[in-house]
Amino acid sequence: MSPVIPLRSVPAQSGCADLEVRTERGQREVFCGLTGIIWLHRKIQDAFFLVVGSRTCAHLIQSAAGVMIFAEPRFGTAIIDERDLAGLADANEELDRVVSELLARRSDIKLLFLVGSCPSEVIKLDLSRAALRLSKMHTPRTRVLSYSGSGIETTFTQGEDACLAAMVPELPAETTTDAHLMVVGTLADVVEDQLKKLLLAMGIPRVDFFPPRNSTSMPAVGKNTRFLLAQPFLADTARALESRGAQHLQALFPLGIEGTTQWLMAAAQAFGISPQRVDEVTQGPRQRAAQALSRHRALLQDRSVFFFPDSQLEIPLARFLHRELGMQLTEVGTPYLHRQHMADELADLPQGVTLVEGQHVENQLDRCLTLNPDLVVCGLGLANPLEAQGITTKWAIELVFTPIQGYEQAGDLAGLFSRPLDRRMKLVA
Ligand code: SF4
Repeated sequence: MSPVIPLRSVPAQSGCADLEVRTERGQREVFCGLTGIIWLHRKIQDAFFLVVGSRTCAHLIQSAAGVMIFAEPRFGTAIIDERDLAGLADANEELDRVVSELLARRSDIKLLFLVGSCPSEVIKLDLSRAALRLSKMHTPRTRVLSYSGSGIETTFTQGEDACLAAMVPELPAETTTDAHLMVVGTLADVVEDQLKKLLLAMGIPRVDFFPPRNSTSMPAVGKNTRFLLAQPFLADTARALESRGAQHLQALFPLGIEGTTQWLMAAAQAFGISPQRVDEVTQGPRQRAAQALSRHRALLQDRSVFFFPDSQLEIPLARFLHRELGMQLTEVGTPYLHRQHMADELADLPQGVTLVEGQHVENQLDRCLTLNPDLVVCGLGLANPLEAQGITTKWAIELVFTPIQGYEQAGDLAGLFSRPLDRRMKLVA
């Protein structure tokens, strides 16, 4: 049997392991960590996210989520008003009252997150202490945790990292002495099911996903836990899991055929499963993915792409677009570079690529306009001005909302980049 894409267990040596990374500091154009609530509340189905913030925070959440919500929302905002800001009201008493009213009304809430914001940080409201106090009041019916989604010095995907890191101390201790696998990072249910099926078919005895779909089924953790990151923005969560004895498995991220295969191979190696077994299990899905990609390659091959730093998905996406679809990378910006988690990804980037950590948006816009790439991946705030200049854009946030991991999604992922180019070509014609 010959695999569609060669299996390999170590990063290619031909890439740019000695890559130079430029660091840039200046004005940034990113959403804040509250944005993570949009996909987290859909994943953990008995959780509620209570933002302790301002009307601005409420507007952000409502407008970002509004078009996607068709059931009773499992997020809301406790508005900090002028009286709280002026110290005329006891914010803790107000918060206790809001939480009690909410839980009396909504018996379906088993896990409540108090989500900090810029305003709650400004008035130094200690939400971790409030969460402890409220947990005592409402346990066992509802557990209360807290994390910060504040926009100061964060990017929007860090909201998920902060949320998962806050959950790690709540994970039960493992009771088994057998090694088991945990997949870490929010994935669409359909993707989770596909990856779980492959991992179990390969011979991994037990696979858990974190975050779970339900707060009552938290996965156990301990020194027999091996974990794979499904998302590249989970540095704090990984550190928290390691502090509980879990061991991170270094891999590419599961985007595209190569990424998914190497990600599965990392699990196989850790559990003593042969590459031949991975080959057998994945051959069908790899062939389907290769077929799906070929349709998009015709449009994307040799086109240039420029990434503004936004989601921390930029480097794995750049690797996928370059290696599997033949795109030329002009500049790859990332808000934060975790060199260890990204080691395999960096080794697979081509020589000479410009990699920038952080952002100085004016300078980056100048470089982008000079390079005049075929496609720019950027935040919502930059997309319209760039489109007005005739540059084709892709919203980075869409790549976080859309199921893109695994073999069956490889074609859809490529389509997210080929469609804007296709549309532009039709408009021009
Ligand atoms: S947390 Fe800060 S950045 Fe985010 S919406 Fe609220 S005020 Fe704005």
